Amino acid sequence: MTYVIAEPCVDLLDRACIEECPVDCIYEGNRKLYIHPDECVDCGACEPVCPVEAIFYEDDVPEEWAAYTKADVDFFDDLGSPGGASKVGKIDNDVQFVADLPPKAE
Ligand code: SF4
Ligand code: SF4
Repeated sequence: MTYVIAEPCVDLLDRACIEECPVDCIYEGNRKLYIHPDECVDCGACEPVCPVEAIFYEDDVPEEWAAYTKADVDFFDDLGSPGGASKVGKIDNDVQFVADLPPKAE
C-alpha cells in the first residue's frame, strides 16, 4: 500500500510534503508531485501538511480522483525505483492525463 497525491496538487506543487517524507520518495513532475508506490513506507507524515488536502492513503482516495492512484504508479514506469527524489530533482514529465489538464486558475 502507499499514499497517493491527487488532483489538488496540480499546478500548486508547493512541496510542503517533501520536507516531511523520511524516505525521500515524493518526486516532482511538471504539474504535480508523485509518491513512489514502492518506496513509500506508509508513515502518513506527508498527509496532514498538504495545504490543499491532496494526499490520501491508497484506500481512501476519493472516487473522482481514482485515476491518480494509477498515475502515481505509471509515472515511474520509465524511472524505476531511483531510491531518493532529491538526487533525481525535477522530472520533465507527467502522466498523460495530468499533462492534458487545463491550466488551473489561481
Ligand atoms: S506516507 Fe510517509 S513515506 Fe509515504 S510519501 Fe508520505 S511521508 Fe513519504
Ligand atoms: S503538500 Fe500537497 S500541494 Fe504541496 S506539493 Fe505536496 S501534495 Fe502537492
